[in-house]
Amino acid sequence: MIGEEKESTLVLGTITGYKAWNFPNGLAQYSDVDKLPWGDYSILRSCQGNVRWKVHKTTAHCLNQYKRGKGKFTHSHSEAPHPKCSCGIYAFYHPYDVLQSFHLSTSIFGAFTGWGNTILGTKGFRIQYAKICALVSSVYITPSVINHIAGYYKVPVFNNYNDLLIKFPKTDLGNLIT
Ligand SMILES: [Zn+2]
Repeated sequence: MIGEEKESTLVLGTITGYKAWNFPNGLAQYSDVDKLPWGDYSILRSCQGNVRWKVHKTTAHCLNQYKRGKGKFTHSHSEAPHPKCSCGIYAFYHPYDVLQSFHLSTSIFGAFTGWGNTILGTKGFRIQYAKICALVSSVYITPSVINHIAGYYKVPVFNNYNDLLIKFPKTDLGNLIT
């Protein structure tokens, strides 16, 4: 997906991205907060890389380096996203693409504010820093569970992406995306 995209690099103020977070083994079995495996899974994790998301700021690190052979490193661990790599915190520009790429029964959907070094692709971007700003509820998740997670991150919950977009609209990138 990322490898097929045409990318350009720039530094922005902030940008709103739409994303899904993985929930261990799907959402159906967690009918209420007391059923959650909070010990090790108390916070949201990326669908790729299983990276834990922090409350105030999640920082991109390159996970690809560990897979590469000696002498093939193109950049340092903390230098993410890097133009010659696929690392960085990825998000879509539009919620439609999140809904196309992930299923509501296994993921929690939402939005984040991103900043720092940014690499723009055609459908989404890779960025250095991110903070979750809103979550979306669905028929697959019990209200008490999504409210509990939202409380942890101190963010609002919306019934769907249309409602979320009113408060957290797409960032206007003008002609930057080709
Ligand atoms: Zn990298």
